[in-house]
Amino acid sequence: MNIQNSERLFERAKNSIPGGVNSPVRAFKSVGGNPIFLKRAEGAYLYDADGNRYIDYINSWGPMILGHAYGPVVEAIQKKAVDSTSFGAPTELEVEMAELVKSMVPNVDLVRMVSSGTEACMSALRLARGYTGRNKFIKFEGCYHGHADPFLVKAGSGVATFNIQTVPGVTGGVSNDTLTCAYNDIEAVKRLVTENKGEIAAIITEPVAGNMGCILPAEGFYTELRRICTEEGIVLIFDEVMTGFRLAPGGAQERLGVDADLVTYGKVIGAGMPVGAFGGRLEIMQQIAPLGAVYQAGTLSGNPLAMIAGYTLLQELRSNPGIYTELEQKTEYLKAGLQRVLEASRTPFVINQLGSMISVHFSDHPVTDFASAASANNALFNKFFHAMLDRGVYLPPSAFETWFLSNALTQADLDATISAAEESLKEIL
Ligand code: PLP
Repeated sequence: MNIQNSERLFERAKNSIPGGVNSPVRAFKSVGGNPIFLKRAEGAYLYDADGNRYIDYINSWGPMILGHAYGPVVEAIQKKAVDSTSFGAPTELEVEMAELVKSMVPNVDLVRMVSSGTEACMSALRLARGYTGRNKFIKFEGCYHGHADPFLVKAGSGVATFNIQTVPGVTGGVSNDTLTCAYNDIEAVKRLVTENKGEIAAIITEPVAGNMGCILPAEGFYTELRRICTEEGIVLIFDEVMTGFRLAPGGAQERLGVDADLVTYGKVIGAGMPVGAFGGRLEIMQQIAPLGAVYQAGTLSGNPLAMIAGYTLLQELRSNPGIYTELEQKTEYLKAGLQRVLEASRTPFVINQLGSMISVHFSDHPVTDFASAASANNALFNKFFHAMLDRGVYLPPSAFETWFLSNALTQADLDATISAAEESLKEIL
């Protein structure tokens, strides 16, 4: 495959951007090779700077649930842009957006818009601390909640991909309040809660984890977690930055049948524009300024272009819930096809999938937490990634990321992906 323009752009980028990229995983450092520079995308396809076409399973790490350059979203942004790109003052559109979110997620009483998933999680944690008057919180190893200091302890995504154990710049004063245990390990949660009785403000979790590959919650895990939080006065935060509006109109809360106290959003809620949000129970949310003293703010929060993009996409998802059935059927078809070719290859593998989130681990043991994900044959995944890329299939460049499907994928795309996997496995094994 000719990637000369991408290679030239990467060399040029390294002179003016750290590592040539604006977010670490994009650099392909762990899988090796040259990152592909993209020029445009449409529906299920990406086109790079050399004119190569790829079937996309990253979808901007989740937001492009109906595919790239989705007509109604593009038109809405274009129309809105002529009214100004930012006011820094309230608009009717923000009210409509908040009402729409509330209609899709019934246990959200109030919702505040921010500009990224990081901001959403950081603000939700501050709010939980302010509300409870406690400092400590529990996060699960391998979960990623953005790059705010308290979350960069045993984090997933790029932090796991680059095997960064301690992030320089995060002080002990901050990280000492971050308690961690294995995902799905309810006994470890109980131990931490007992050892730190009355000191834990929040437990934050990715309800279906996507930042160590796709990891599903064990049966009953969230029922127990919910019970513990209620009994101990701990705020349960569902980080739905990946799962929100993707697993169901009401996100993982609806799909798993569990109510969190606070929920954070990103990705789909912005349709690819820089948007995040956090919301939840009135009693907690009314502690946020200007109602309460927990300060949180943003010049570009509720930005009109970001709001109209997200609003248009969410409206589409709410008015046509059949999209979720279609997405799930497509993902299950892909899973069955991958299963077939992986079994034929005789290499050990695990496929974890829920809704339109899926990932393959080259593992001979179940993958249920970070340790089991990390002990899979991730060197083989890296080879698989490149073999797939050479065949025009763009997977996340790390075994510690989930694959996201868009509803723009056709049966032919899924068949092409399965054939590419079959050929790739023949090449690399
Ligand atoms: N939370 C989760 C579950 C995420 O996957 C991410 C990003 O991938 C974030 C938070 C941070 O979001 P952002 O990159 O928009 O800051």
